[in-house]
Amino acid sequence: MMSERLVHRVGIGTDLHRLERGGPLRIGGIDIPFDHHLAGHSDADVVLHAVADALLGAAGLPDIGERYPDTDPAWRGADSRTLLGEVVADLHRRGMSIVNVDLVIQAQRPKLSSHKPAIGTALSALLEVSADCIAVKAKTNEGLDAVGRGEAISCIAIVGLNAKSC
Ligand code: MG
Repeated sequence: MMSERLVHRVGIGTDLHRLERGGPLRIGGIDIPFDHHLAGHSDADVVLHAVADALLGAAGLPDIGERYPDTDPAWRGADSRTLLGEVVADLHRRGMSIVNVDLVIQAQRPKLSSHKPAIGTALSALLEVSADCIAVKAKTNEGLDAVGRGEAISCIAIVGLNAKSC
């Protein structure tokens, strides 16, 4: 009988949502006081969407666009914290555990540096891993492109998983 092999898997996820007038800004599972919010079919939490896609990618599962299609009214205004919780539970059922999450949020406005610890704490709770397994970075786009003009916020996430097989 073959012994069970522990393998490491990685996944990447990206997302971008437009900023529209009216706050607060929901990002990384928290609400930040700001006069704009991210627009989308769900709550448009660009960080949680990128993290969910990275987790699903690492697990070899269909992305959140397939899992929670924006053509389905069931997901209108959906709380992305609930969707991410379902993804985490699915991974656990498959015998996978999250090793680390590294993410870069690209936002010209608002300034996110002071909110990074709170986003890390929120992700730690949602992903059921300790906060030191999560790195949150925030950058501007130097005034260039839609993000740089303050019209959108984007996020890139990379995750590591441990799994029992590949
Ligand atoms: Mg999205």
